[in-house]
Amino acid sequence: MSRAFNFSAGPATLPESVLLQAQSELLEWNNAGASIVELSHRGPEFIQVAAEAERNLRTLMSIPDDYAVLFLQGGATAQQALIALNFADPGQTVDYVVSGHWGKTALKQVKPYVNANVAANGEPGGFRDIPARDTWNLSKDAAYVHYTANETIHGVEFRDIPDTGDVPLVADFSSSIVSEPLDVSRFGVIYAGAQKNLGPVGVSVVIVKRELLERAGQPRAEIFDYRAHVKGESMLNTPPTYNWYLAGLVFKWMLAEGGVEEFAKRNARKSALLYGVIDNSGGFYRNEVVVGARSRMNVPFFLKDEALDKPFLKEAEAAGLISLKGHRALGGMRASIYNAMPEAGVQALANFMQDFQKRHG
Ligand code: PMP
Repeated sequence: MSRAFNFSAGPATLPESVLLQAQSELLEWNNAGASIVELSHRGPEFIQVAAEAERNLRTLMSIPDDYAVLFLQGGATAQQALIALNFADPGQTVDYVVSGHWGKTALKQVKPYVNANVAANGEPGGFRDIPARDTWNLSKDAAYVHYTANETIHGVEFRDIPDTGDVPLVADFSSSIVSEPLDVSRFGVIYAGAQKNLGPVGVSVVIVKRELLERAGQPRAEIFDYRAHVKGESMLNTPPTYNWYLAGLVFKWMLAEGGVEEFAKRNARKSALLYGVIDNSGGFYRNEVVVGARSRMNVPFFLKDEALDKPFLKEAEAAGLISLKGHRALGGMRASIYNAMPEAGVQALANFMQDFQKRHG
């Protein structure tokens, strides 16, 4: 077997020990006579798995009791639409801070339902910086303010939680959740697709302040109603049990490794190493994001000469470093270095980049 260091942006690499445990439990989970993926979501086995996953995520993120935690389908994109349906009245104003591709997506999802005000937009600057808080044009009666904590494609990350006074903050943490300690009590809603830092694609986590669930929102089917999902303990319909189980294994692994404090340190070291190689390459490699807004999770970079892109990817792959091709919207390269990417993987990439430059620079 030759598992490579996988820099995919999502679905992304998972901890090897988690995959091995899942493998060992695939035929039979915990003497249940069947795999967890074959058992009813309402049976005692899965109820135990689900409850433990929630408990461990609450511990990891220090989620206060006045927040509900949901495990839902539909990906982060579905949550982007459901947020407007659940927390804003028809036609009500909502504020969006757009700092990259995914902020734009979030905005697009709510346009049919609400009056979406773009409070700030980093696009004119090529999404290379977070729009400064004092330039935001917030509405007086907004239902909420939405922002994207980490832009997976553009590689820009908020390093502070913005202050929006009494207006609830709704944040897309798809690509940076559990990467460092976070004061959950500052938010109305935090949501994330799982396929970067939490586990496999197919389940999304929504953390919502319970008092927001009292809002009327808009006419919607029960399956689009967060309140109903909370009441139904994320089992209004058949949940993605295997994905939920795997996410639960990732949470246990994170706790055993030292929790978000430990991952924050590792992630700071990993990203510093990579940006260091880029910044010290004399322009051979280039990251265009303003230093203070650089993402610790997704490092997009360009080679001086585009003609070297193909050889770079080919040689990287031969060296056991895969999925480095940048998103088609930007081109170039992107190294996604979530929690499950070991420091040895980033070191191997750093070494490869320096070596590649020596040979092609
Ligand atoms: N938000 C962010 C920040 C993302 O990175 C992604 C996916 N890459 C999405 C939203 C969309 O997620 P999904 O594909 O789970 O709907």
